[in-house]
Amino acid sequence: MSDKFDAIVIGAGAMGSAAAYHLSQRLGRSVLILEQHEVGHALGSSHGPSRIFRMTYAHPAYVQLAQEALGAWEDLERACGEMLFLRTGDLFFGPEDGPLANYKMLSRGPAARLPG
Ligand SMILES: Cc1cc2nc3c(=O)[nH]c(=O)nc-3n(C[C@H](O)[C@H](O)[C@H](O)COP(=O)(O)OP(=O)(O)OC[C@H]3O[C@@H](n4cnc5c(N)ncnc54)[C@H](O)[C@@H]3O)c2cc1C
Repeated sequence: MSDKFDAIVIGAGAMGSAAAYHLSQRLGRSVLILEQHEVGHALGSSHGPSRIFRMTYAHPAYVQLAQEALGAWEDLERACGEMLFLRTGDLFFGPEDGPLANYKMLSRGPAARLPG
């Protein structure tokens, strides 16, 4: 193994793993990732059986980021040849004149399929 790398990423949670993966796959960089625990450990924020993935944000830039992130997860699933997360529906509750009134306006893509 080389002792010289283009980049060193500290922490192999979701963020560090994604950074290392894209540095390597997209930019062709040699990357060393340093993790204090074993890979896939249960001590970080990335561990857990469920996460909310939503397209509803007050600022369109976040909606765009979420859409791109969803595409990146789908790319990763194709590259791995396995399903990495199971998509389920969701329900948002709130007063008619509250922030959720803007839900459809703020939502793009899959989240815009809400009835009504
Ligand atoms: C209970 C919970 C529920 C959440 N729910 C949601 C949700 O529904 N939707 C959503 O989008 N987000 C959710 N989040 C947030 C999301 O999970 C985190 O933002 C994301 O996992 C953070 O990833 P990370 O790689 O930054 O951190 P981590 O997964 O914590 O990874 C950091 C890694 O760095 C390692 N590390 C730290 N210091 C060192 C060091 N000095 N040397 C070597 N290694 C080191 C750690 O061991 C760890 O593996 C939730 C978080 C929690 C805790």
